[in-house]
Amino acid sequence: MVELLAIDNLSARFGRITALNGVSLHVNEGESVALIGPNGAGKSTLLSCIVGLVRPAGGAIRYAGKTVTSRLEDTVRSGIAFVPENRRVFGSLTVAENLEIGATIRKDRAEVHREIAQFLEMFPNLAERRDELAGRLSGGEQQMLVIARAVLSKPRFLMLDEPSLGLAPLIVNRVYEMLNDLRKTGLTILVIEQNSGRALGFADRTYVINGGRIRLQGPSAELADAPGFDDAYFGYGD
Ligand code: ATP
Repeated sequence: MVELLAIDNLSARFGRITALNGVSLHVNEGESVALIGPNGAGKSTLLSCIVGLVRPAGGAIRYAGKTVTSRLEDTVRSGIAFVPENRRVFGSLTVAENLEIGATIRKDRAEVHREIAQFLEMFPNLAERRDELAGRLSGGEQQMLVIARAVLSKPRFLMLDEPSLGLAPLIVNRVYEMLNDLRKTGLTILVIEQNSGRALGFADRTYVINGGRIRLQGPSAELADAPGFDDAYFGYGD
């Protein structure tokens, strides 16, 4: 099994606040892994370290066997796609233009257009609105659009920060169906969620982070019923 992402003993601080404290975590190629935890647990900080937006205070991050640099551009070129929280579509561009932007680093234009057509076929709502401004779409449609945009960079590794945040349960179903389809293509996925039920239902393995430390980890199917799950997720509050 190839270890695509390996995080070893990572720490991060903001002034006096220790956001991450000795976090170790790995994601194997082809796996779907979830990182769950309450507000302020350190989830977003961990992603920010991986994509080079936060400089760790200690520890190491390796991706595909190489130490991760702190340049976001290098991160994208190395095959990591990142879907940040709050689904940032380019609101003044059309749906189709948003999708094209996802593929700007690719040269295989014919293939890009085929993939965009394929995506629009899967989502008739978006297909109907391909020439409308993306800022007019509903929250759920915007979420699917930003995921598709990320996937059009043809990543080897997709990271998502709270894809279910603020969406109605039925829309969250659609977002996770989309992620399930993507995992079936062999894409490696790391998803961050406060919505522990969704994450556990989706990921092969899950880590519970709280107070900047990993409190519990294991196969998702076993974790929800594991003794100590509630303590790990809900305990350690400030
Ligand atoms: P949420 O789900 O609420 O986004 P999270 O698990 O993603 O929570 P982080 O955003 O990583 O948590 O925050 C971890 C800790 O670091 C918190 O105490 C937070 O207040 C602090 N923190 C995060 N970013 C900054 C920053 N830029 N400056 C100062 N403190 C920060």
